[in-house]
Amino acid sequence: MSNQVNGKTFFFACCGIKGDWVYLRKALKLESGFRSTRVCHYCDTTEWWKFGSNLRSWNGQLVDPWKTDEPPTPLRTIPGVESPLLIRTDPAHTWPIGVGKEFAASTIFLLCHLDVWPANNMPDKLLGAWEHFQSWRYRTKHTCKLHEFTYKTFKVQSLQQYPVLGGSGSDCIVVCKWLESVVDDPAMLPAFHVDW
Ligand SMILES: [Zn+2]
Repeated sequence: MSNQVNGKTFFFACCGIKGDWVYLRKALKLESGFRSTRVCHYCDTTEWWKFGSNLRSWNGQLVDPWKTDEPPTPLRTIPGVESPLLIRTDPAHTWPIGVGKEFAASTIFLLCHLDVWPANNMPDKLLGAWEHFQSWRYRTKHTCKLHEFTYKTFKVQSLQQYPVLGGSGSDCIVVCKWLESVVDDPAMLPAFHVDW
C-alpha cells in the first residue's frame, strides 16, 4: 500500500493485527471462541493447549478461521491480512494470564528445590519464598492480592502435578518482577553456580 503526502510517497505494510481475543474475534470475524469447537485461529486443533503427555508440536497446517456466514470485515481487505498468521496474539494477555503463570510457578518450585529458601520440606520452603516475596514487596511498594505460597496457590496437591500460579494477571507480573530480582542477586543463589 502507498500514499502521496506533500509529493512524497509513503509505503505501508501490515505486519500484524493485535489485540485481546475478544477484539480479534470481533474485528476479524473469527470462528474461534470460548464456546466454539474451533479453539485456535491458526489450526483446527480441538483441544486447549496444556502441558502433559499430549503436548506435541504444531503440524504447521493453517486452517481458515473466518466466519463463513458473514461478509469479511474491512480489516481483511488490507493487503496481506488474508493470512491468519497476521492475526497476532497479544503478549500482554498471553503472558500474565497464560504461560507466565506456569513459568512463575515452575521457577518458584525450582528455586525451592535448589534450597534458595532452605527447609526440610516443600511447604516450608514455599513459606520461606513467601516471606522473602513479602519483604521484597514492602520494600519495593508492589501490591499483590495473593495471601500465601502453598500448594493451593499453585493449584497442585502434590509435586507430581504441574504447578500454575493462582491470582490475577497483575499478581503474575509482580511475582515475575520479584523472581527477576531473586535470580539477579548472586547472594540468593548459593546452590546455583553455573559457568557459562
Ligand atoms: Zn493452533
